[in-house]
Amino acid sequence: MYSDPESGLKGIIAIHDTTLGPSCGGTRMWPYATEQEALTDALNLSRAMTYKSAAAGLHLGGGKGVIIGDPRTDKTEALLRAWGRFVDTLGGRYLTTTDVGTTGRDLEAVRQETQHVLGLDVTLGGSGDTSVMTGLGIYMGMKACASDVWGADDLRGRTVAMQGFGKVATHTAEHLIEEDVRIIATDINEMALDRARQMGVKVVGPDEIYDIDCDIFAPCALGGVINTQTIDRLRCSIVAGGANNQLATAEDGEELHRRGIVYAPDFLINAGGVINASAEIGQPYNPDRSRQQTERIYEQMSAVLTTSRKQEISTARAADILAESRLDSVRRMRRIWRG
Ligand code: NAD
Repeated sequence: MYSDPESGLKGIIAIHDTTLGPSCGGTRMWPYATEQEALTDALNLSRAMTYKSAAAGLHLGGGKGVIIGDPRTDKTEALLRAWGRFVDTLGGRYLTTTDVGTTGRDLEAVRQETQHVLGLDVTLGGSGDTSVMTGLGIYMGMKACASDVWGADDLRGRTVAMQGFGKVATHTAEHLIEEDVRIIATDINEMALDRARQMGVKVVGPDEIYDIDCDIFAPCALGGVINTQTIDRLRCSIVAGGANNQLATAEDGEELHRRGIVYAPDFLINAGGVINASAEIGQPYNPDRSRQQTERIYEQMSAVLTTSRKQEISTARAADILAESRLDSVRRMRRIWRG
């Protein structure tokens, strides 16, 4: 935990696991009601990053940063640079990028104080906005689920209900619209809703979204939205979206499975952003390589669906096993003494 009263910064960096490489995860800025709430979020999100990078085959561990504050009113250059100094104290054990409430522009200020930043604008030698590739990966994940549920991965004519219409949802929607998918979305931010309307998306109220009769429910705002209260209301065949930690508890993943709703594990299908950012490490950024690697999410999602069927376990559990088996195997190998 770090605070800098001068700039008003109060933030947390959580490092969950560095078995596979330096921990990596975005910086979230959110007006948490309490420090405890922020800490819980940082810990849960850093764990999700460990699983995400492990399942995606990346050489990165799991970490996450959170800044307690309202991104619309509390963000200043001094606060962001103070954050950069905090990141720098960890000497590269934590690499940061954008998340909810932070943008590529913000990273430019953070970069003034630390080199441990990924996802800077392409014009600055970075890999650019992570949400572009995240959107592509989610779309790929949705198609793999569609193939499993309806026997073909064509989404034409389907209806997708999107909760949150921020960066990730917008980039996912671009692919869906190209395939003539009908989108119904909600958000709590008027600017996001205007963007949705301009793209021809139908807009509903924040609470109405759970009750929409749709093919795919796509959580693209914050976590914990699949829970004992909301599962009963879902009227979809697939849950597939970009938000991290969509399941309030592991039991909620089991409940979706029991009800025959196919759940695309969030960390598996929203890995496009970290895949893209990781392409900056140790080599010049190549967008084609990132795109190919992100498109592989289709095969990874299909493999998880196959395991889920064969072993009669939920997709959430199947994806956990995929990540944990890689982590365990590398952890065991690391016991070898190199002298
Ligand atoms: P963003 O801030 O651009 O968008 C989030 C949107 O959700 C905002 O428009 C916000 O107003 C809206 N929102 C918040 N609470 C809401 C509510 N209760 N109901 C409806 N809308 C609500 O952030 P983003 O980058 O699009 O990220 C969205 C989610 O995807 C987050 O959970 C994030 O952790 C996850 N994610 C993002 C990336 C990435 O590359 N940006 C990668 C992986 C996962």
